[in-house]
Amino acid sequence: MNNRKKIAIIGSGISGLTAGFYLKKHGFDVTVLEANPKVGGRMATFNSEKYIIDTGAQFLSSGYKNILKLIKELNIADEIVETTQIGGIVKGNRIYSLNYHNPFSLIVSGFLNFKEFISLAFGSFKLKKETRRPSPSNYSDWHQFDNENTQDWSDQFFGKTITEYLLEPTLEAFYFQSPEETSKALPIALSKYNTFKTITLKSGINRLPTKIAENLKIELNSKVLEINDNKTNIEIKTKDKSYFADYAVIATTADIAKNLHKNTNSIENKLLETKYSSTINIAFGLKNKLSGKFNYYGIFVPRKERKNISAIAIESNKHSKRVADGDLINVMLAGKSGKKLIDKNEKEIIDEIINELDDYIPNISNEIVFSKLFRWEKAEPYSYVGRSKNINEYRERIKKGNRILLAGDYMGMPFTEGAVETGVWVANKINQFETV
Ligand SMILES: Cc1cc2nc3c(=O)[nH]c(=O)nc-3n(C[C@H](O)[C@H](O)[C@H](O)COP(=O)(O)OP(=O)(O)OC[C@H]3O[C@@H](n4cnc5c(N)ncnc54)[C@H](O)[C@@H]3O)c2cc1C
Repeated sequence: MNNRKKIAIIGSGISGLTAGFYLKKHGFDVTVLEANPKVGGRMATFNSEKYIIDTGAQFLSSGYKNILKLIKELNIADEIVETTQIGGIVKGNRIYSLNYHNPFSLIVSGFLNFKEFISLAFGSFKLKKETRRPSPSNYSDWHQFDNENTQDWSDQFFGKTITEYLLEPTLEAFYFQSPEETSKALPIALSKYNTFKTITLKSGINRLPTKIAENLKIELNSKVLEINDNKTNIEIKTKDKSYFADYAVIATTADIAKNLHKNTNSIENKLLETKYSSTINIAFGLKNKLSGKFNYYGIFVPRKERKNISAIAIESNKHSKRVADGDLINVMLAGKSGKKLIDKNEKEIIDEIINELDDYIPNISNEIVFSKLFRWEKAEPYSYVGRSKNINEYRERIKKGNRILLAGDYMGMPFTEGAVETGVWVANKINQFETV
């Protein structure tokens, strides 16, 4: 085995950094090339004088096994904090308060009627039995469920109210996509996280990628323009320099990977066509604390109730130290609104959103003292029917001799833990190729 083989990783998002972390551990000579002046990609944090604002990924879960392992190995476990475990859902003219760990709160609060609650409980019990084996971190494990969209399946399995008031708002708030656009494999896999706690990192979500990067060779401001497989090596070109490596791991979004990877097979072609939802995240600073009045971390707004907003996060309920003074809310727009508004000017978007906010939290507009808007044209990969099957086939087909590998959330679960799992998978694969 030649462990000093060179690996070039394109992209310092959490998937690329994880691949780099484990490849370096296996003894490889790793270089990460990043287009931006900062590491982390969509795990980004903006620090202002008063607020720590996560602009992309918002929270983690105590069920994110791969991420927790990384956090432990990096000695930053003291960064982990639990958010409040209460959520709110808008229905009619009020916000219903739901405890994530107490399903009876759905019926006690009057959010569901008895028949709807029984249908949910019965369906969940059935699902639990069917999903004992697959891992919720690994989307390819769910390919046997990847044959129908969420809307059709859930209407039948749970009934329309559960689709409209629980599944639809979850998919829009977390992934900016609708149940019609999403395979049932995704919510079924997500149901395995139900018993876990929502957590985050004290000093901002970007702490994790920044910490991984400390021990890696990273070239910032190095946008990769071309990758050539020269048979004896792989050449990776940036504007100023060519890098030569034995393997390249492309850990960007699918559209960029598609331009860089030339000799693709049919299954790579399908995965590289993955499209992304869009969103806009707007952080509003408030004069006074909201946490006295509201104990929710997240408020979900179902399609039937919303204009543009899919979720409102009350940041002092995420962690009190995120806000030095007053309060901070993070507002996320639903996917279709994200696509519609993304090119509009900041004032136009903010005015429209402030108006809508007052519908859910009356007079909140009078409290706003700060606003900052973050646009995500490529927010999250769509989990269309067939993506899990495609990943499974990709993983089965890859073999020694493949020297350009793909990582990133479109190659796994569409969130941080999924992206990390693809990084772990790629690192193990390359190590396996070089060991046998
Ligand atoms: C608004 C929003 C909210 C989210 N909320 C959550 C959440 O609460 N919890 C959760 O778990 N997940 C959440 N996610 C999803 C999560 O952020 C992503 O799944 C994850 O960060 C993706 O990581 P990645 O490494 O696959 O890609 P990315 O983070 O996109 O990394 C790709 C990297 O490649 C770089 N790059 C691109 N082109 C080139 C090039 N040519 N040369 C070199 N480098 C290049 C980019 O600059 C970037 O750094 C959210 C995402 C968004 C946008």
